[in-house]
Amino acid sequence: MLKDRTAVITGGVRGIGKAIARTFCENGANVILCYRSNDEEAEKTAAELSALGTAVKVIKGDVADPETAKKVAAEAKAEFGRVDILVNNAGITNDKLMMRMTPADFTKVIDANLNGAFYMMKEISALMVKQRSGAIINMASVSGLKGNPAQVNYSASKAGIVGMTLSAAKELGRRGIRVNAIAPGFVETDMTSVLTEEQKKSAAQNITLGRMGQPEDIANAALFLASDMSSYITGQVIGVDGGIIM
Ligand code: NAP
Repeated sequence: MLKDRTAVITGGVRGIGKAIARTFCENGANVILCYRSNDEEAEKTAAELSALGTAVKVIKGDVADPETAKKVAAEAKAEFGRVDILVNNAGITNDKLMMRMTPADFTKVIDANLNGAFYMMKEISALMVKQRSGAIINMASVSGLKGNPAQVNYSASKAGIVGMTLSAAKELGRRGIRVNAIAPGFVETDMTSVLTEEQKKSAAQNITLGRMGQPEDIANAALFLASDMSSYITGQVIGVDGGIIM
């Protein structure tokens, strides 16, 4: 479905980003994976995905730094000549009740989750505009749609992702670029591994399908939004949450 296309996936070396990268490679895409610090996981993922037969490149860089987006765009252009798909997946949490949350706790999450996605969209969409085609997928969260205690920083960043997705979709639609978001519910990754078994069980009780999501559940939605199967879909937020919000 993505034969010979090039995809940039931030936070692509573990968790949801890695599942998206694997699904894209299995469907013929070359991938550029951006990560912040986990060198060991980056090497392991690059080796694992290269075995699937398409090109895999990893780039270390903090998405909260605008220079990272410039570097990724320049390297993508030099190596592949184009970028067809951008997945803004990198994200962090720093959960605290608001009364204990410092301005730095708030800003750190906004910098990584929201500003980082903006820097990447700005640089990569400039390449896509020249191509007059592209698909951008931004990772939101149910937390940005319905709120969660101890997550005012994270919810604000993810609600921001939704607004940014809609505006970018309107700006870029006539240039052949589609911009959509995915809002996952609870997905089993390192991000949610900090929850106790009891918390996971209680979270699952609010999920209509009765289970936590797997990274592959999100990857399948990303494949749809990245491919021509969704060529008439833009400016949408697709909930992949087992029915938490309905
Ligand atoms: P994860 O397992 O913690 O992985 C996060 C990835 O993002 C890692 O590869 C990490 O790099 C990278 N990253 C984090 N901050 C970065 C930065 N500043 N610059 C570059 N890379 C950075 O997270 P996940 O659960 O897969 O979540 C992926 C996305 O889905 C996030 O946007 C998250 O908010 C969203 N989401 C997750 C859930 C869930 O239940 N898991 C639910 C809703 C939404 P390193 O490996 O180098 O640390």
